Amino acid sequence: MIANPSYTRLTNTMSKNITLTLTQVHDLAQSALQAQGFSAAQAGAIAATITKAERDECKSHGLFRVPFYVKALANPETDASAQPQLSSLAGSVVRVDAKHGFCPLALQTGLPALADKAREQGIAALAINNAYNIAALWPEVEELAEQGLVAMAFTCANAYVAPAGGTKPVFGTNPMAFSWPRHNRPPLVFDQASSASARGEIQLHLRDGHQLPEGWAIDAEGNPTTDPQAALDGAQLPFGGYKGSAIALMVELLAGALIGDLFSFESSERDIHGSGAPFGGEFVLAINPAQLQQPGSDQEGYLSHAETLFERILQQEGTRLPGDRRFAARQVTASRGVEIPQQLHETIQEYI
Ligand code: NDP
Repeated sequence: MIANPSYTRLTNTMSKNITLTLTQVHDLAQSALQAQGFSAAQAGAIAATITKAERDECKSHGLFRVPFYVKALANPETDASAQPQLSSLAGSVVRVDAKHGFCPLALQTGLPALADKAREQGIAALAINNAYNIAALWPEVEELAEQGLVAMAFTCANAYVAPAGGTKPVFGTNPMAFSWPRHNRPPLVFDQASSASARGEIQLHLRDGHQLPEGWAIDAEGNPTTDPQAALDGAQLPFGGYKGSAIALMVELLAGALIGDLFSFESSERDIHGSGAPFGGEFVLAINPAQLQQPGSDQEGYLSHAETLFERILQQEGTRLPGDRRFAARQVTASRGVEIPQQLHETIQEYI
C-alpha cells in the first residue's frame, strides 16, 4: 500500500522513536524502493546515500527522504530503472546522462572516471544531466577527498527561494559542497544550501510541529513568517541576503546553463504532476593538488600547510571544522544504531 508522503503534521506520535542498525536502515530503504518499482541498482545507490545520512545524523536526507523518492514516481517522465550512461567529452570532462533516473546511481557511475581524469589532468569536471536530485552533496565530495583530491559540487533544485529584494521563488535551495583531503583523518567537508535553511529542515519542522527560526522564509504575501507551512507556500530566503543570493545565482549557472541543463524555475515548471523532485544537473569539480604546487616544493606540503590553518581556527573556543559533527556522529551510530520516528518506520514499511 502506498502511504501519502505529504508533509502532514505529526503530533504525539512523534515522541515514539525506534532504533535501527545501519544495516537495517539500508535494507529498509532498499526493500521499500524496490517494492515501489525502483531497479535494484537505483534503489541500492539511493539506499547507500540514505544510510550515510542516517549514520552521520543528517536526518533531512536519511530515511525521511524515502517517501520523497517514492513520490517522485508520480511523474511519468521518471525512470526508476534508468541505467546512467557515461561519456568522455574532452580530456578532462566527463558526462553522465542519468536518463531520468536518480542522482546517486549517476554519481556512482561518474565519480571513478572523474577521479581518474583529475589525477591525470590536474583538474577535471563531471557534468551529470537529466537526473532527479533530492540528496545531500557531501557524500560525493567526501569520496573524492578520500582519494586525495580537492572537490566541489553544485546542484539546482526547484524554485523555492526568492532572490534578494524579491518575494517570489526563483532559485532553488542550491547547495554547494567543498572537500579538502587530510592525512590519516577524514577530509574537511562543508555542504550547505544557499538558502537560510535546506527545504528538508522546514519539512522536518512542519512534521514535528515546530516554528521556524526568524529569517528563514516569507509567506505568500511576502511577509516574514516562522510558520513552516506558510514558508513552504511562500518563499525561502537566501542566507546572508544578497550574498547568498549571488551564490544561488552562481549555482544556477554552473549546474544549469554551463552543463546544458535546467534552472530551478524550469524544473518547477516541468513538474506538472507535483512530484516535488528537482530535475536537472549536478556539476562536480575535482582537483589534484599535487599538480598545482610550486616546482621544487614539497609535493605534499599543502596538506601540512592546511593543518596550520585548521589548528589556528580550533585554538579559539567555540569553533569547530565543518564536517566534524558528522564524523563524530558516525563514531557513535556505527555501534549504537540510529533512532527514527516509529511513524516514519511504519510509513516506509507500508511501501513493502
Ligand atoms: P547546515 O546549515 O546544517 O550545515 C552547513 C555546513 O556547515 C555543514 O557542512 C556543517 O557541518 C557546517 N557547520 C554547521 N555548523 C557549524 C559550525 N558551528 N562550525 C563550523 N561548521 C559548521 O546545512 P544546510 O541546512 O545548508 O544543508 C543541509 C543539506 O541539505 C546539505 O547536505 C545539502 O547538500 C542538502 N541540500 C540538498 C538539496 C538538493 O536539492 N539536493 C537542496 C538543498 C540542500 P556538519 O555537517 O559537520 O554539521
